[in-house]
Amino acid sequence: MEENYLVLAFYALTQIEEPHREVKRWKRFLESIDAMGRIYINEDGVNSQMSIAHADSSKFYEWLLNDYPGTEIKVHQYSEHAFPKVTVKYREQLAAMDRDFDLSQGGEHVSSERWAKMVEERDEDTVILDVRNDYEWDVGHFEGTERPELKTFREFPKLAEDLAKTRDLKKTKVMMYCTGGIRCELYSCLMKDEGFKNVYQLDGGVIKYGLEQGNKQWKGNLFVFDDRLVVPISDKEKNEVISECLHCKAKIDTYYNCANMDCNDLFLSCLKCAEKMKGCCSEECIDAPRRRPFELTEDPKPFRKLPFEEKQALTPTDVASCQSAQ
Ligand SMILES: [Zn+2]
Ligand SMILES: [Zn+2]
Repeated sequence: MEENYLVLAFYALTQIEEPHREVKRWKRFLESIDAMGRIYINEDGVNSQMSIAHADSSKFYEWLLNDYPGTEIKVHQYSEHAFPKVTVKYREQLAAMDRDFDLSQGGEHVSSERWAKMVEERDEDTVILDVRNDYEWDVGHFEGTERPELKTFREFPKLAEDLAKTRDLKKTKVMMYCTGGIRCELYSCLMKDEGFKNVYQLDGGVIKYGLEQGNKQWKGNLFVFDDRLVVPISDKEKNEVISECLHCKAKIDTYYNCANMDCNDLFLSCLKCAEKMKGCCSEECIDAPRRRPFELTEDPKPFRKLPFEEKQALTPTDVASCQSAQ
């Protein structure tokens, strides 16, 4: 497979005076090159996931770093665009978050190297928090983490509060990680708010960690919010699959959206079961009136009729239960 595209993930938390104008400027530039993706901008900064033709990448980096110097860009290679179109939008929240925080009060950034060591040397005073959705955790996570139990990220403050009640605020080491790092920038503030003295966030998220440390301390693969859905965290070695087919329990990490449009639930399935179940999550869904024709493919893409990118971030697991996104 020729890898002529790059998938980029980055964010910049910096004051933007005229965000709507910035949205237009980004649009104009991205449309002038071979790029696709999802970019959110507001007064606090930019959050971006995109793919770009290799040939246009240096031009883009130069353009980006000119206005956002020091932005850390995480890069994966890929054979095609990982997004169906370019979406640049003003959005109140850059990532799933209901409250405003003083971002300077967040957890301490931890390098991938130090993080690996901290995971290895974790003790009973350590809590490693996976700041993602349950279906992301299912296909891959750090050793020593629990499956996140949030229905939506709106419940996160409650989780933080509960943790604060049961844990020693001075002794406990709270280690937080998410896909690309931005969620921890926000949610670590909340943990500090709750009174935890030792709060750490994995710098650059799992994406950067995988590029630097490979599969060390990590089980499985990584869920991503683009057409690739699940990727290895290391670009050097594949990792063992840890999740199972919903139907036959075979080890698999391929996600499908249920072909019953009124369900559309995201579920794991092997190819055989997907075919047998006509792309559905359950027997009931096979018989449902509004069922999409099922196309057999080893490489299913997220179903787009539901506004995949729209729902992303705002009510993460709400959406997961009736399907898609972050
Ligand atoms: Zn199966
Ligand atoms: Zn279903």
